[in-house]
Amino acid sequence: MNIFDNIKDFYDNFDGEKGIIGFSALNKPIYYLAVKKSPRPVVIVQYAMHAREHITAHLALYQIRRFNSTGKRGTVYFVPMVNPDGVKIALNKKPLYKANGRGVDLNVNFDARWGKGKLNVKIIGDENFIGERPFSEPESVALRDFTLKVSPDATVSYHCKGEEIYWEFFQKGWRRVRDKNIAEKLSMVTGYAVKSTPNSCGGYKDWCVQALKIPAFTIEVGNDDLIHPLGKECLKDICEKNENVIDCLIGVLDKYGNKIYESRHIRSGKSGKNRRSADRRGNRKRRKNYCART
Ligand SMILES: [Zn+2]
Repeated sequence: MNIFDNIKDFYDNFDGEKGIIGFSALNKPIYYLAVKKSPRPVVIVQYAMHAREHITAHLALYQIRRFNSTGKRGTVYFVPMVNPDGVKIALNKKPLYKANGRGVDLNVNFDARWGKGKLNVKIIGDENFIGERPFSEPESVALRDFTLKVSPDATVSYHCKGEEIYWEFFQKGWRRVRDKNIAEKLSMVTGYAVKSTPNSCGGYKDWCVQALKIPAFTIEVGNDDLIHPLGKECLKDICEKNENVIDCLIGVLDKYGNKIYESRHIRSGKSGKNRRSADRRGNRKRRKNYCART
């Protein structure tokens, strides 16, 4: 079975909330599967946004199974393959292909300092093309809209390779401390290094940090000595190193509790009167959430 059949088979047999967040440029469904142990914290984990990194879709199925059987708290929305058109190209024609079916690199197509990344290119290609405008692609739109609907407390994006964790995108103050702290916890459970990517913009993680003000992480699996595309022989090691990522993240988010809600709330706050009334609404909502959790 290829990875498309694996996902479809898994999806068909999955006994829980599941659905489609949208369709790719070539009209392939982009599936999600939700595992709900408690209402909060809410996390989105997404995989295979870059075509040649299809090994991460296998990791998705492993992590869904594991969290389903051993997870104790939280709600996790898994999106095992954001870029099905690109993965098809990478599997059948161009093994090193990264973009979607229309030659746009989805992880530079989000509205977060769009077009300001060092490696960005402005013409259609196998990698790094930013698109005609932010959210020009159906896949990035689908993930954006799903994220806004679900309103997660944090997100994780799986990529490869390098065994590194990225967390930074111009956060300031306590949010910076919080996000770095969580990245360090994830580093402890995976053994991966926490790294900065100062010249990278327009990614899903960047947009989550900038627009939603939540902690968001890119985890690069697979040793840097490996060669793209990573084969299934790498999967066992990747799964082992990432088996505690979701539980760890939920545990830390639980500790931050209301702090995350405050940060989520800031994004909807305006200045002056609107801000104050939004604050009051937010306070009521937070109290309600807090009561619901205790
Ligand atoms: Zn990638």
